[in-house]
Amino acid sequence: MPAGSVTASVQPKREVRAAMGRSHAIPRAPSTGPLADDTGCPILHVDMDAFFASVEIRRHPELAGLPVIVGGSRTRGVVCSATYEARRYGVHSAMSTARAVRLCPPAVVLPTDHEAYSAASAEVMELLGEITPVVEPISMDEAFLDVSGARRLLGSSGEIARLIRSRVRRELRLPCSVGVAPTKFVAKVASARCKPDGMCVVPAGGVVDYLHPLPVTALWGVGPRTAEQLRCIGITTIADLAHSPAPRLVGAVGSAAGTHLHELAWGRDPRRVLPLAPEVSIGAEETLGTDLFDRAAIDRELLRLADRTAARLRAGGRRGRAVSLKVRFADFTTITRAHTMDAASDVGQQLYQVARDLYDRLDRTGSPARGGGVRLLGIRVEGIVGAGDLPEQLVLGDRSHGWRDADQAVDAVVSRFGSGAVAPAALLRAAAVPNSAPAPPPRTGPDAVR
Ligand SMILES: [Mg+2]
Repeated sequence: MPAGSVTASVQPKREVRAAMGRSHAIPRAPSTGPLADDTGCPILHVDMDAFFASVEIRRHPELAGLPVIVGGSRTRGVVCSATYEARRYGVHSAMSTARAVRLCPPAVVLPTDHEAYSAASAEVMELLGEITPVVEPISMDEAFLDVSGARRLLGSSGEIARLIRSRVRRELRLPCSVGVAPTKFVAKVASARCKPDGMCVVPAGGVVDYLHPLPVTALWGVGPRTAEQLRCIGITTIADLAHSPAPRLVGAVGSAAGTHLHELAWGRDPRRVLPLAPEVSIGAEETLGTDLFDRAAIDRELLRLADRTAARLRAGGRRGRAVSLKVRFADFTTITRAHTMDAASDVGQQLYQVARDLYDRLDRTGSPARGGGVRLLGIRVEGIVGAGDLPEQLVLGDRSHGWRDADQAVDAVVSRFGSGAVAPAALLRAAAVPNSAPAPPPRTGPDAVR
């Protein structure tokens, strides 16, 4: 259905379902500000709002404010995501699209485009990784963060939640909601309650009051069947469950579930945020706008890639020893050269020096000229170790400490204001040189799109 045929005035039906998935079970609460009491709240749950639909609206801005359903066509398929305008009609995920359209006739229905949503998900996770390396993605559009280590640099948990929301909004043009709490479970409940486009801080001292009025279905692990079993013994709210004698609870739902739910009902959830398994290699590569012959221009690109790679290492609290350089020439021959350093590093200047030395050796063989100029450059670091596992290298006259301090200062600015806020002086000078040549046409070919 073309966007133009959409009815502009949307009258929601009276049967209201607040949200998709499980979160509809949880009553909404007003958002709290970033300055709310966040004592004992290191955990953030970031949940993108109507993710697939929001990604569609980002590329079709004319659909903003309309009921949009992602999932098949008007007659086939299942709802994967729907804007809040569509949810007001009673549309929710996993419903057949045909039924959703009967509930919401003016809906714009779009097919799913998983490639686009995966790409957007990667953008989200990358941004969260710039806030703290302790990010645990739990689905394409949700992640837990433990911001204990980021607070010194970025402010309180509430301020970090506000920073994430504004950066996601500004840099990715997507809405999200953030729950801030002492535990994963409460943070997840909090993000669900302030949706869409909200934030909620639940201080350690307020957890029990926050949870107890909620229905038991707000607890992790309580589906319709368990809810029914609990209702049979008179338990409908989390308070009922918290105050229920253990034998009664265990008799209704079994011993493991009974104990687990009773703990959650008192806000006790010892699960830690588990970041993803460390990457085996970290790097950056880029197909250049024009084929490069000029050594100074090639060095500037190497510096840019080395800085990007080093920033990724630092964001993950990692360092690496083996640096490899990849060069693809205009005739598509590709050469890779590697060098192992004496000590692992996360310093852009050190990676740059190694990459430049590796390039020097190629240069002496005349490869760039023979290959018709350089088309693509890449730097990759392997032999990754956790930065915390290593003793600091204290070598007399070693300048790496100065560079590391500079890099860390840059990281602090980037995590606050986004990449692009700062760059090495050499790169700024390069950008300032007036370029009279017209911009090259966009690349096409096997390495054009990444
Ligand atoms: Mg979501």
